[in-house]
Amino acid sequence: NSVFVAIIGTGMAGLTAARALDKAGIAVQLFDKSRGSGGRMASKRSEIGTLDMGTQYFTARDRNFRTAIREWQEQGWVAEWKPNLYQAREGVLSASPDEQERWVGIPHTSAITRGLLGDLPVTFSCRITEVFHGPTHWTLQDASGQGHGPFSHVIIATPAPQASALLAAVPVLASTATSATMDPVWSVALGFEKPLPTEVQGCFVQDGPLEWIERDRGKPGRDNRLDTWGLQASSNWTRKNLDLPKEAVIEQLYGVFAELIGCTVPAPAFALAHRWLYGRPAQPHEWGVLGNAGLGVYACGDWCLSGRVEGAWLSGSEAARRLLVQL
Ligand code: FAD
Ligand code: NAD
Repeated sequence: NSVFVAIIGTGMAGLTAARALDKAGIAVQLFDKSRGSGGRMASKRSEIGTLDMGTQYFTARDRNFRTAIREWQEQGWVAEWKPNLYQAREGVLSASPDEQERWVGIPHTSAITRGLLGDLPVTFSCRITEVFHGPTHWTLQDASGQGHGPFSHVIIATPAPQASALLAAVPVLASTATSATMDPVWSVALGFEKPLPTEVQGCFVQDGPLEWIERDRGKPGRDNRLDTWGLQASSNWTRKNLDLPKEAVIEQLYGVFAELIGCTVPAPAFALAHRWLYGRPAQPHEWGVLGNAGLGVYACGDWCLSGRVEGAWLSGSEAARRLLVQL
């Protein structure tokens, strides 16, 4: 009765589960539809260097997660980021310093998930479309019709809408996953030839189309030729502008940014937009993980908890823990 665990998704949740199982001596096989690991923590290569279009920083409250971060720090994957923080309300920008610890991957967010993946066995560009439960084992089928398996257990570590489709063999879990709706997020990067004459490094925007503005320069381990800024739209604005062409998204959010930031903003030398369809859960949950221990299937991800990197880590850890106690 050998234990062989399929893990669908190489974001923070899937990789955390994989690492914990690997550490316990369990064989795992990871799958991801993308060409690389990281999910919403992946960084995007561009002509001006690597850009963080998803997670740009994260916080840590849980004690165990903080211990993990200390290990990542020792590995050189993360460093603390202490930005000059601002907030904007009704178009008015004001300094908004606080004591919160914030962490960033170095030189980019993807350093963390790349580090976690290490040399674990993984199949990329492989979108799993079906997860079947046979009399004794699980098998997976990918979009090209190819089968994978047999596996003794399956961990589904994808955003909720994708997890509910893959949980068809366990309708109760599928319908719980379906209830976890996820909001889309438009994310834009702008690169300027000359550094903008402002002290702002991060800004929480309380109203309007934008929600968060940040400057890459000044983060630890960055080496950018351009002064690169990241803009994240609110879910409300994103939903209303879901099908807008990328150029129009860039133009509109650039306009909002230029008006907000309080200094003269030239045209960017570089701009890129990325639409996350499943950017973040609409609400947090307290599920931790969804699972059926008898069948050996678990679903985890940020949507099972706080909708943040920490939630994804906690959920992936919990999936591995629950699987291990059942062996
Ligand atoms: P994901 O990272 O989404 O990983 C799921 C993986 O599953 C993906 O790699 C995907 O390709 C793969 N997959 C999906 N379906 C299939 C399939 N059928 N077959 C194979 N593979 C599949 N969090 C914070 O804590 N702080 C922040 O400041 C912050 N900012 C954010 C900004 C943006 C723009 C976005 C989008 C997210 C942000 N987050 C932030 C949230 C954070 O990124 C997520 O909570 C976390 O990365 C989720 O990890 P996950 O493993 O649950 O899911
Ligand atoms: P955090 O503690 O830095 O921020 C949480 C929230 O508190 C902020 O959204 C902001 O509204 C407020 N806040 C915090 N510090 C502030 C300050 N100095 N001045 C004014 N307001 C302040 O981080 P967190 O709790 O780890 O949340 C991470 C961030 O990631 C949040 O901003 C969250 O909205 C964002 N997030 C974004 C997405 C996305 O898809 N865009 C997905 C998940 C999380």
